[in-house]
Amino acid sequence: MAIVVTGAAGFVGGHLVAALATDGRRVIGIDRRAGTGDADVDIVADLAEPGTAEVEDALADADAVFHLAAFPGVRASGPEVALHRHRDNIVASQHVLAAVPLSTPLIVTSSSSVYGGSQGRPCAEQDRLAPRGEYAASKVELERMCAKRVSQGGLVAVARPFTVMGPGQRPDMAAARWIDDARNGRPLTILGSPDRTRDVTDVADVVEGLIRIADRGVRATVNLGTGTSHRIGDIAAAAADAVGVPLRTVDAPAGDQEPPHSLADTARCEALLGFVPANDLRGLVRRQVDSIVPAAVAS
Ligand code: NAD
Repeated sequence: MAIVVTGAAGFVGGHLVAALATDGRRVIGIDRRAGTGDADVDIVADLAEPGTAEVEDALADADAVFHLAAFPGVRASGPEVALHRHRDNIVASQHVLAAVPLSTPLIVTSSSSVYGGSQGRPCAEQDRLAPRGEYAASKVELERMCAKRVSQGGLVAVARPFTVMGPGQRPDMAAARWIDDARNGRPLTILGSPDRTRDVTDVADVVEGLIRIADRGVRATVNLGTGTSHRIGDIAAAAADAVGVPLRTVDAPAGDQEPPHSLADTARCEALLGFVPANDLRGLVRRQVDSIVPAAVAS
């Protein structure tokens, strides 16, 4: 018996696999692409395709399944992207939900984007959802599939992480782009106002939250955020500072799918999981910069 992690080669999935393995648990990682380093992928498979016997057996026999595989990112758009997003966020999830027995704990990563931003107060799990853009809408649909499974007796928890940062962050995410720009002598592109704000969460805390959800048998929707938000301009400044260059920025318009502000209500996380993710923006950015291998430094 093992714990299955889908999206195991990804940013969050890689950290989750490594943490579970360090804890001495037997993990089977599934991803469309092979993993690197600590987070090896055991089964390379596209979950949007009909399941191979290996995939079906792993999902059917698991002690618990963390379903992270997705086409993330709020910005990408266009017909090709819409198709790809539907395959990875909806079709692949349908396959995973169908292959996992109702009695197996299933922990699914949704996203804070389902809230459509915080409107002057922290977003709480019972708030009405107001997704902006196709990515957020796909996560709302994923949550609807999870709710249906619960109504059928399924053991499901839904995690809503807020902007995740840390070593290995996806290169399309703002902080990763800013660090890359700073390291390569380019100005940092700020989408919309630098006064927009984000609740930024350490990937280690997101992983801790996911593992606590499983270990505590939580069957609820839980925000994984810090309850503190930072100006976009301050996050960019922290990136430049951690790289050791003066902050130079250029402005570009933000799309409608970018909420002005995000902020987590952490009460349910604290009550159910017994902790609240830490707020240490500068330390987090520093660790993300320090994790970049020297060979990648531009000359
Ligand atoms: P990621 O892109 O780094 O990882 C996703 C992984 O899923 C990739 O390795 C990809 O190859 C795999 N995958 C996608 N479609 C697949 C398929 N059809 N079959 C097999 N593998 C497939 O993304 P991430 O940032 O690690 O995000 C992990 C999860 O957390 C996603 O569900 C994402 O929506 C959610 N999330 C992330 C953030 C964040 O800030 N990173 C915030 C909120 C929610």
